[in-house]
Amino acid sequence: MSLHELSDEQREIRDLAKRFADDEIAPYASAWDREHRFPKPVFEALGELGLMGACVPEQHGGAGVDFLSYILVLEELSRADAGVGVTVAVHTSAGTLPILAHGTPEQIDRLVPPLAQGHELAAFALTESGSGSDAGAMRTRATENKLSGTKQWITNGSHAHTFLAFALDPDKPSAFVVRRGAPGFSVTREEEKLGLNSSSTADLAFDETPGEPLGPRGGGMRIALSTLDGGRIGIAAQAVGIAQAALEVATAYAKERHAFGRPIGGFGAIQQKLADMQTEIEAARALTWRAARLKQHGHPHTVEGAQAKLYASRVARHWTGEAIQVLGGYGYTKEFPAERYYRDAKVTEIYEGTSEIQRLVIARALLGEAARES
Ligand SMILES: Cc1cc2nc3c(=O)[nH]c(=O)nc-3n(C[C@H](O)[C@H](O)[C@H](O)COP(=O)(O)OP(=O)(O)OC[C@H]3O[C@@H](n4cnc5c(N)ncnc54)[C@H](O)[C@@H]3O)c2cc1C
Repeated sequence: MSLHELSDEQREIRDLAKRFADDEIAPYASAWDREHRFPKPVFEALGELGLMGACVPEQHGGAGVDFLSYILVLEELSRADAGVGVTVAVHTSAGTLPILAHGTPEQIDRLVPPLAQGHELAAFALTESGSGSDAGAMRTRATENKLSGTKQWITNGSHAHTFLAFALDPDKPSAFVVRRGAPGFSVTREEEKLGLNSSSTADLAFDETPGEPLGPRGGGMRIALSTLDGGRIGIAAQAVGIAQAALEVATAYAKERHAFGRPIGGFGAIQQKLADMQTEIEAARALTWRAARLKQHGHPHTVEGAQAKLYASRVARHWTGEAIQVLGGYGYTKEFPAERYYRDAKVTEIYEGTSEIQRLVIARALLGEAARES
């Protein structure tokens, strides 16, 4: 990556996020991970900086910067703490932007400003215990705009105020906005996870819970898929941020750790690992920026977003493991953050569409009808 590829405004917002991440997030991330603590004050502070609605237009309470700038923010936050990264990514890409894209002017005026200013958090509730990749198999139903059913693993679930929820209406999914505290709404469980311990992943239940339709009736799947098209670019940025953090810790360690009378960075095996790691991270970043630029110019970006997420998540999973290898036994301990990066990286291959689903998206675009299973 060369910062020369960025505009002055993009560099400024990246620097703002980097400073905040270095000062207010990175020093505490290990403790939040250990204590499974959702760092609420961080999101209030990010709201004050305009980073909870970075790419939301100013007239709706956001900072009004372009989509690539928002992607740069996500990379910097995720470099410090991937849990903070996913909280902001889901809040913005999967919660706030679909309301902007599909809401009526009245819904946008009422719902978006508190989200964009960081006074409220948003969530995206699609997955259920029996439906993940196969989202169309959902069982939550809507009858006269009242939702009944359950949703599983909803990021921000325990803290969000506004939920974008999907339900069969009557036999095709529609999108609804459900507000926390609505009758029959409950958060039933906070999930225990391998990583991302500073983020909330919760199960929800709706019992004849009033929802406000978003977009056309029966148009929920289109809203969900187009939301995920953009959201995946954010997850790719999250993966790049985690991998970058792993590169930084491995590089610093290679300069300081001595073996056989010299720094381990003097060994060819370590040099080649770090050189390949940096090169692949740059390639992942380039794919991510390309998809972000296409989206911000209103061009199709489904395949490019899938490619960015597929590649960046693999880079993050693979190279966080190799960063542990560079640190040797210390890498396996909690004394260094490499093991946290490794645990956090894995999920980028799973949520907002697994790697297998990204390959399906890419292959279908390549092969057309020939890729359809009969
Ligand atoms: C930490 C975390 C946070 C999450 N946050 C949210 C959230 O905010 N909102 C939300 O709605 N969901 C969320 N999810 C759910 C997530 O999006 C799903 O886990 C994901 O889409 C995969 O669905 P699944 O887990 O049911 O796996 P399944 O769909 O059951 O897949 C199992 C395996 O089968 C493979 N597979 C499935 N179908 C195919 C196919 N057609 N071709 C090839 N392989 C296939 C998959 O790739 C995978 O390897 C979250 C999950 C986690 C772990």
